[in-house]
Amino acid sequence: MKFISFLFPILVAVTVEAGEHREQGKHEHGHGQVAIAFEGGHGMISLDTPAESILGFEHQAKSEKDKKAETDAFSKLEKSIGEMIVFAPALKCQFLKDKIERKIQGNHSDIEASFHVQCEKSPMGTPISFSFQKVFPKLRDVKVQFIAEKVQKSLDVKKDGMGFEIK
Ligand SMILES: [Zn+2]
Repeated sequence: MKFISFLFPILVAVTVEAGEHREQGKHEHGHGQVAIAFEGGHGMISLDTPAESILGFEHQAKSEKDKKAETDAFSKLEKSIGEMIVFAPALKCQFLKDKIERKIQGNHSDIEASFHVQCEKSPMGTPISFSFQKVFPKLRDVKVQFIAEKVQKSLDVKKDGMGFEIK
């Protein structure tokens, strides 16, 4: 787990930067931020979006129905992260949830999730693509930032299948 100590400061820096963008754009329904940092075949992903896109509501879950909806949405996010962030199949990347949390502020709330990614090889020189709406149709504009070694990319994902070559 040595890579965590290396990647974590980068991911924090990326996320903080994304957060600053966000303050200008505020809490905007339908929008999200994803930060991905890699070293070799090990990566970390953070995803941040208003809960409305993932859960369909933002109030505190008090009824059994809402609590179940929240549990279901979180497990859907966990299970589908590899369909939303798609690495080359030959890399055999596996995703592991680090955390999925909801932060409620007044009438609004945000989902903050992070994952570890373990691939058999470094993704350098391979394509990556993003399909958020297929899984969460309301997530229609996601700003992705990607850092690996000397590579730094950013992409505004507004439709499924958008991506880039990691180089
Ligand atoms: Zn909201």
